[in-house]
Amino acid sequence: MKKELKIVPIKNGTVIDHITAGLALNVLKILKINTRTDAVLSVVMNVKSKLMGRKDIVKVEDRELKPEEVDKIALIAPNATINIIRDSEVVAKHKVYLPKSIEGIIRCANPNCISNAEREPVMSKFITVSENPPRFRCIFCGRIIEDVSRNL
Ligand SMILES: [Zn+2]
Repeated sequence: MKKELKIVPIKNGTVIDHITAGLALNVLKILKINTRTDAVLSVVMNVKSKLMGRKDIVKVEDRELKPEEVDKIALIAPNATINIIRDSEVVAKHKVYLPKSIEGIIRCANPNCISNAEREPVMSKFITVSENPPRFRCIFCGRIIEDVSRNL
């Protein structure tokens, strides 16, 4: 019998698979899951993947991700797949979808950008300039954001 790494299945919740290797913790950050969470989490990093060489996997028990949360994951891990599990069955499978423009999620890295103004800041808006790796351009000042996890 071949030895394989078996990952304990969950009964209810969400499995985020095919995360770019090394980015699992950024996925948790984008979902606003921090060390004070009560959620039962499994984070697996750098497992072998036929498709990707190496990948990360995150499992969140008893929580089904909403579509807007799923799309946020695309901002950092464009190959990710989302499996929603109920009673140990996969009831839904999604690929993440990177929108052409992103409003209000990414913070502009330029402190002088109008979206960072102290008084009456306008909502940030970025255009996707590259999907993989993901890169975004601020429509107000043109600043390019490459590491989204630092600008959430
Ligand atoms: Zn800007």
